[in-house]
Amino acid sequence: MAEIITLETREAEHAIDITSEVLAVVSRSGIESGLCQVMVLHTTAAVVVNETADGNIGTDIVSALQAVIPTRNDWLHDLKDDNAHSHLKASILGPSELLPIEKGELLLGTWQGIWLLEFDGPRQRRVAVHIIPAHA
Ligand code: ZN
Repeated sequence: MAEIITLETREAEHAIDITSEVLAVVSRSGIESGLCQVMVLHTTAAVVVNETADGNIGTDIVSALQAVIPTRNDWLHDLKDDNAHSHLKASILGPSELLPIEKGELLLGTWQGIWLLEFDGPRQRRVAVHIIPAHA
């Protein structure tokens, strides 16, 4: 099964904790054991698993990428779309994560959660959540 989570981002670049939205999809699936893939359906946003208990981690991820990828750098894509830095930041992190489901819950470490990283907002974003049962 699959569901699409739709959300509105608020800033040009920021991190959004989407753990509870993904957990809700897992819960609705009724699957006890399997895999959950979370994939953002855009090229200037990313999905990562990291600490969400401290929201500053999400802000720091954005800041770290801003420190190493300049907004203006004669990027070739800027001649066409003027958002090359957004694509580069999203590419480094990647669009998806694959998470285990055990006993009907996502198997996450104590501090782990799921971040959606926006690099070209604000805008509407879609995140696909696929649930893959262990025994189909
Ligand atoms: Zn572009």
